Amino acid sequence: HAQLPRPKSPRIIVVANQKGGVGKTTTTVNIATALALGGLNVLVVDNDPQGNASTALGIDHAPGTKGTYEVLMDRVGIIEHAQPSPHSLNLHVLPAAIDLSAAELELVNERGREHRMRDAIRQYIDESGVDYVFFDCPPSLGLLTLNALVAATEILVPIQTEYYALEGVTQLMRTIERVKGNLNDDLVLSTILLTMYDSRTNLSREVADEVRKHFVAQTLDTEIPRSVKIAEAPSYGLPVITYQPKSVGAQAYQAAAEEIARRGAEG
Ligand code: ADP
Ligand code: MG
Repeated sequence: HAQLPRPKSPRIIVVANQKGGVGKTTTTVNIATALALGGLNVLVVDNDPQGNASTALGIDHAPGTKGTYEVLMDRVGIIEHAQPSPHSLNLHVLPAAIDLSAAELELVNERGREHRMRDAIRQYIDESGVDYVFFDCPPSLGLLTLNALVAATEILVPIQTEYYALEGVTQLMRTIERVKGNLNDDLVLSTILLTMYDSRTNLSREVADEVRKHFVAQTLDTEIPRSVKIAEAPSYGLPVITYQPKSVGAQAYQAAAEEIARRGAEG
């Protein structure tokens, strides 16, 4: 694997879209793995109580596993519970067990509830020399996602190239503006990735064109094709990048990761 360029300062990227099933988790685990295999230090924070990112990266997240919940509720350092990935030495994962679902409500009455993750990430950056942090978020804009948005420097939005693709993005944009104005001035929607692209359908092409027209600078050149290998990979506890590195899906995610790294190095 060729060395990918290191960002000037750590990039903290929230993968968000309040629609479910658009490829948030798949994008998180594959981009993170590609960057780690490219020699960069990467942390994935599983911020979804379903724990799909933990599963897809081969990380244990049975009920009771310590991870994101303890960081948010007990203010434990990320470094205490981040687990090394079995597949790459520079990739760590803060797992999410189902217990995390309680945090959404429990946080409501906590002091500094929106800043818990930001404080933890700042500490982790000092302790670890991490280059990239990715947050895999649940399909909602509650306190879990809000904590990630406050901690982040950037948002990456995967958009499925199908009908109604842009629905929900408007709502996400409104949330971003509100977070920017109140809690995190630095936040930018830096990256859009078109997922589940089917070159045989006019619909995919039309949706892709529309997204590119709305988000000229943000949309990556690479589109992720619909692929059976991508869908199979999680059941082996592997991202497609390591499960079937030569497949079109893996190569597309590799290309997307290289674009992201290149853009980050340019600043
Ligand atoms: P989200 O995290 O937004 O809910 P996922 O990444 O879990 O979305 O993807 C939803 C489902 O679609 C999963 O079963 C996943 O394996 C599958 N999937 C994701 N991307 C692709 C793709 N490019 N081609 C085929 N299946 C995909
Ligand atoms: Mg998901």
